[in-house]
Amino acid sequence: TKELRIEDLRVGIDGKEILRGVNLTIRQGEVHALMGPNGSGKSTLSYALAGHPNYEVLGGSATIDGADLLGMEADERAKAGLFLAFQYPTSIPGVTVANFLRHAVTNVRNPDRKEGEELIPMRDFRKELREQMAELGMDQEFARRYLNEGFSGGEKKRAEILQLAMLRPAFAILDETDSGLDIDAVRIASEGVNRVAAKHSTGILVITHYERILTYIKPQFVHILFGGQIVESGGPELVTHLEKEGYDWVREKYPEAA
Ligand code: ADP
Ligand code: MG
Ligand code: MG
Repeated sequence: TKELRIEDLRVGIDGKEILRGVNLTIRQGEVHALMGPNGSGKSTLSYALAGHPNYEVLGGSATIDGADLLGMEADERAKAGLFLAFQYPTSIPGVTVANFLRHAVTNVRNPDRKEGEELIPMRDFRKELREQMAELGMDQEFARRYLNEGFSGGEKKRAEILQLAMLRPAFAILDETDSGLDIDAVRIASEGVNRVAAKHSTGILVITHYERILTYIKPQFVHILFGGQIVESGGPELVTHLEKEGYDWVREKYPEAA
C-alpha cells in the first residue's frame, strides 16, 4: 500500500504564510477528515497539493511513496495516484462526460503515452463506464451530457464520483467546504465515495467545515487545522465534540496559532 506523506508543509499566498508547517500521513484504505474554522487554511492545503499557481510552497514536502508531488505538473500528480476533484476545468465546450473521462483514464493508465497517441479502446471504455455508472446508480444518459454545462451542484458531484470510480486513484482529496449541496446530494455523493474507497482501497482526505458530510463518510482519523497548523488529531469522537462545542475551545486552547 502507498503512503501520502505531508511534512512540515508551508504555503503562502501573495507573500503571506498561510500554512505554517502541516504534518499529515495518509495510507491507502484510510479515511481522514480535515476540519477547522473558516480561514484556517483547509482549501490552501488542497490547492497547494493540486499545484495551483497562486499558492507558493515556502518549505516542507508532499510525497507519494517518496516521489515528490510538489515538483510535478497537475497531470503528473494524477499519474502518481493523486485525485483532486477541482483540478479539472469547470466546463469544456463540446466535451461530453464520456469523452472527458476517456482522455483522463487513458492518461492515468498509460503514463508514457504521448499527446496524439491512441486512447484506450472505445469498446472496453464504454463497457467499463456502463458498469461503473450502473454500480453508482447513475442514468446512462448522463455520460452523453456536456461536461459541467448546466450541471446542478448534485450533478457536478456525481461527475466527480464517476471520475473517482473510473480513475481509481491511490489517494483522493475532496474539499467539500463550498459545495452547497442539499442533503440528498450529500448522501448520494458520500455513498459513492465510500463504495469506491472500499473497493479500490483509496486513501481519502475529506476537507470540510461542516460535520454533516461526516455522518455519511465515516473518517477513522480526524484532524483540526487552525491557523495553518494541525493542532489536534484523533478519532471520530472529535467530530462529535466539534458538533457540540464548535471551535471556540480550539481558539482558547491554541491562542498562539490564531
Ligand atoms: P479555509 O478553506 O480553511 O476556509 P483558506 O485556505 O480558504 O481557508 O484561506 C486561508 C487564509 O488564506 C485566509 O486567511 C484567507 O483570507 C487567505 N486567502 C485565501 N485565498 C486567498 C487569496 N487568493 N489571496 C489572499 N489571501 C487568501
Ligand atoms: Mg473558507
Ligand atoms: Mg475552504
